[in-house]
Amino acid sequence: MHVIVLGAGLLGISSAWHLRQLGHEVTVVDRQNAPAAETSFANGGQISVSHAEPWANPSAPLKVLRWLGQEDAPLLFRLRADPAQWSWGLRFLRECTPARTRHNIEQIVRLGTYSRQVLQQLRRDLGLQYDQRTQGILHFYTSQKEFDGAEGPAAQMRALGCDRRVISADEAVRLEPALRHILPQLAGATYTAEDESGDANRFARELVRRCIEDGVQFRMSHTVTALREVGGQIDHVEATDPSGRFQRIRADAYVLAMGSLSPLLAAPLGIRLPIYPAKGYSVTMPVKDESMAHQVSLTDDEYKLVFSRYTTPATATSPGGDRLRIAGTAELNGYDRDLNRVRCEAIVKRVEQLFPGAGDTTQAQFWTGLRPATPSNVPIIGRSKLPNLFLNTGHGTLGWTHACGSGQSIARIVSGLVPEVDFAFTGVAAPRRAAYSPQGAGASAARP
Ligand SMILES: Cc1cc2nc3c(=O)[nH]c(=O)nc-3n(C[C@H](O)[C@H](O)[C@H](O)COP(=O)(O)OP(=O)(O)OC[C@H]3O[C@@H](n4cnc5c(N)ncnc54)[C@H](O)[C@@H]3O)c2cc1C
Repeated sequence: MHVIVLGAGLLGISSAWHLRQLGHEVTVVDRQNAPAAETSFANGGQISVSHAEPWANPSAPLKVLRWLGQEDAPLLFRLRADPAQWSWGLRFLRECTPARTRHNIEQIVRLGTYSRQVLQQLRRDLGLQYDQRTQGILHFYTSQKEFDGAEGPAAQMRALGCDRRVISADEAVRLEPALRHILPQLAGATYTAEDESGDANRFARELVRRCIEDGVQFRMSHTVTALREVGGQIDHVEATDPSGRFQRIRADAYVLAMGSLSPLLAAPLGIRLPIYPAKGYSVTMPVKDESMAHQVSLTDDEYKLVFSRYTTPATATSPGGDRLRIAGTAELNGYDRDLNRVRCEAIVKRVEQLFPGAGDTTQAQFWTGLRPATPSNVPIIGRSKLPNLFLNTGHGTLGWTHACGSGQSIARIVSGLVPEVDFAFTGVAAPRRAAYSPQGAGASAARP
C-alpha cells in the first residue's frame, strides 16, 4: 500500500519509519526544507514517562486564573476573540476533575512506557546516537504544597508500572550535586531512574537518514493546502511545490501528523480535532563551569521548566559540544511564535538562580515552538471517520516521549494490525489481547 505521511516532525518521521518496516511504500510531505524544523526542533529533550500529570488537573483552574495577565506565568492564557481558544479552554476545564485526571494519567503512562521501550529497541537495532543520557529524570519541588500534592499522582504512576519514587531533598542532592545551592529551598523531589533524555532533533534527522536509505520518499518544501474527499474517502492531497506550482499527490492511505496545524487541515472534512497551539520556549547555551552544571535531566516544578544536557563528541566533520537545554512554560495565544523578552529573561534568571555560572548566558540561543496541545494532554492516534485517513497528532508536552510508540501504533493500525499497547486509540476497538500492557484493559473507541 502507498501511504502519505503529512508532516515531517517527530510524529510523522516515526510513523514513516514504522510504516516502511511493515512493508508499505511511504511518502512524507512537509512545508519546511528540512525535517523536524518546527515544534520538533529544540524541545526539552526529556523522555519522561513520569511527566504524566496533565496540565488539566484539579488544582489547574485556580492557578490559571491567578496567572491571567502575569507576563512570566508558567501557563498563560492570553484571552483572544478566538472561538477555537474558548472551546479548547472549556474542554480543558472539563478535564480538571479528579476522575478525568486519573483517566488521562493512565493513558499517558501506558503510551509513555511503551514508547520508551520502542525508542530503546530502535536505538539498539539502528545504533542511533542523539546525545542520549540514561540517568533518569529528577523532578524537584521548591514548594512544600506542590511536593505534598505530587505524592498522589506519583503513587498512581507507580501502580501503572512507572517507578516514580518520592525522595528527600538530601537524596535529590546526592543524585544531582548541582542542586546543592538550593538545598535550603528544596521541599523534596521524585526520581524516575528509567526515564531518559536526548536531542530530539538529532534523533529525528538520524531516523530520516535511515528512512531514506530504506526507500522512504521525502517531498520537502511542499505546503499542503487541502485534503480532498471523494466518495467518502480521501482521494488526494493538494499542495504547492517549492516553486509555488500546484500539485495533486495520491496514495491509498494518509496519516495526518502536522502537529498544531493538523486541525486546520482536518476541519474542512468535518473532523474537529481539539488541538490548540501552546507556545513554549527553550534556551540552549554552552556549558561554562562544569562543576556547577547538572548531569541528570531535571524538572523544576515551580517554574514548569525541564533541563537536559547534550554532549556531542567531536568528529572529523564537526567540533561537537557540551550544552545545556532548558525548556518549558506555555502560552495559549494562537499561532504566534514571537519571542517574548520577559519570558526569555525569566528562564535565564531561573537557570542562574539554580546553577550560578553553569552556562554561558551570553551565548544563549532562544527558540519558541507550538505544542499541539489537547485539553486532556492525551494525543489523538488512530482512525478518523474517513476510512483511509489516519491521525497521529495532538502530542502536546510529550511528543518526543510518545513519538516512537505512537509511530509504531499508527503503522500497525494502518496495516490492519492490533496496536501493541492498551491505549484509547480513536476509532479502534479495544484490543482483544494487547501484546504489551502494564496493567490490563482500558481502550476506548471514539472516532473524530
Ligand atoms: C518548549 C517545548 C519543550 C518541549 N519539551 C519536550 C520534552 O522535554 N519531552 C517531550 O516528550 N516533548 C517535549 N515537547 C513536545 C514535543 O516537542 C512536541 O510534542 C513534538 O515536537 C510534536 O511533534 P509533531 O510531529 O506532532 O509536530 P511538528 O514537529 O510541529 O511537526 C509537524 C510538521 O508538519 C509540517 N506542516 C504543518 N503544516 C503543514 C502544511 N500545511 N503543509 C506541509 N507541512 C506542514 C510542519 O512543517 C512540521 O514539520 C516540547 C515542546 C516545546 C514547544
